[in-house]
Amino acid sequence: MSMLTHAEAQFDRVASLLRDDFPPEILDKIKMPRERIELRLAPLLSNGHVRVVRAFIVHHNSALGPCKGGVRMTPDVTLDDVQALAMEMTWKCALIGVPFGGGKSGIVASPETLSAHDKEVLIRSFARNASRHIHPLLYVPAPDMGTNERDMGHIKDAISYSLGQATTQGCYVTGKPVILGGIPGRREATGRGVVRVIAAAMEAEGRSLSGAKAVVQGFGNVGAVTAQMLVEAGARVIAISDIHGAIEAPGGIDVGALTAHVAATGRVSGLAGARAIDPAAMLTLPCDVLVPAAAGGQITAANAGAVRAKMIAEGANGPTTPEADDILNARGVTVLPDILCNAGGVFVSYLEYTQETQKEQMTREDVLRWLSQRMTERYQRVRETASARSLSLRQAAMTIAVREVAAAVMARGLLP
Ligand code: GLU
Repeated sequence: MSMLTHAEAQFDRVASLLRDDFPPEILDKIKMPRERIELRLAPLLSNGHVRVVRAFIVHHNSALGPCKGGVRMTPDVTLDDVQALAMEMTWKCALIGVPFGGGKSGIVASPETLSAHDKEVLIRSFARNASRHIHPLLYVPAPDMGTNERDMGHIKDAISYSLGQATTQGCYVTGKPVILGGIPGRREATGRGVVRVIAAAMEAEGRSLSGAKAVVQGFGNVGAVTAQMLVEAGARVIAISDIHGAIEAPGGIDVGALTAHVAATGRVSGLAGARAIDPAAMLTLPCDVLVPAAAGGQITAANAGAVRAKMIAEGANGPTTPEADDILNARGVTVLPDILCNAGGVFVSYLEYTQETQKEQMTREDVLRWLSQRMTERYQRVRETASARSLSLRQAAMTIAVREVAAAVMARGLLP
């Protein structure tokens, strides 16, 4: 089953709960993407050859505002994946309460195999070819898997250049360097938000993060910050993985030392004081919280029964399949759904968007305070809805989000 099948199945489950409140055609309308765009990039790389690269943009829904969502660069991303991720952004933005719709981009390339120069050329080629689809009032990209702050700076520069201007007016891209109008705290926002939601959920369950055992899958932007924040909150991170392998240290991994080790070697494996462990076996280690913060589709019907975590916090988008979700719910494992758990990134993107309009730089302290408040407040809302209506946290989060988007569609009125 593909990411899109999963995303649509999650939607269908919730739509069936809302059939009495909204006409079926409205629910059908918000399930479908507005636009699926396929681009052909042809950057001239440093080896003197043109490389043909496919790229995709999906504008899923803009009832609440301009489509928002990151640019994913992986060798196997598909247009359908981008549609699934754009759909998820629609729910995420609605749930976290920012006036954005959902969008996403994908570039079919492997960032690890590109030199810094060639990645820049590819990103600029994307910005140029996608320029008709990127605008503060249409679609605003951000970092996602395989892209980062530097890439967002290049997107902003490429757009300014094409417009023949020194800079852009309004926010065309978020997650860019602070010196180019980015916001302090954006890079860490997703990981910090993940840990805030875990802490709130543990507190609600009468437990504490202090002394808790955590397992983190992924050591990219989300996984690395989550691991660091978990340690700062007093938790012990007993295992961490990346695409190359996994490591375990039952006494707790020194995340600071790991960050230095990854900067030097490019992988988590080989950290002094930790031993190698099978990445698949890592997902079933007994722990208080398991944070999948890497690819989608990691917890499936095949391994959900063996998961021994008490709580799963979805740092990644779509890490749990609908079948796995059922198994985990039946087993009483708390699943903190992606559209809530990892929404800190897009929430701070919204702060960056408003900052750029108001031309007043926010401080890091303000950003972190707002982020923490919003994550806590939305977690409470999801939890209350779940207990009032006997739903899982995912169903509750999706119900709130889909209801919001459907209400916006109805309020706008139907076009002839
Ligand atoms: N790529 C991130 C996500 O999946 C952030 C998107 C954004 O800030 O627009 O939520």
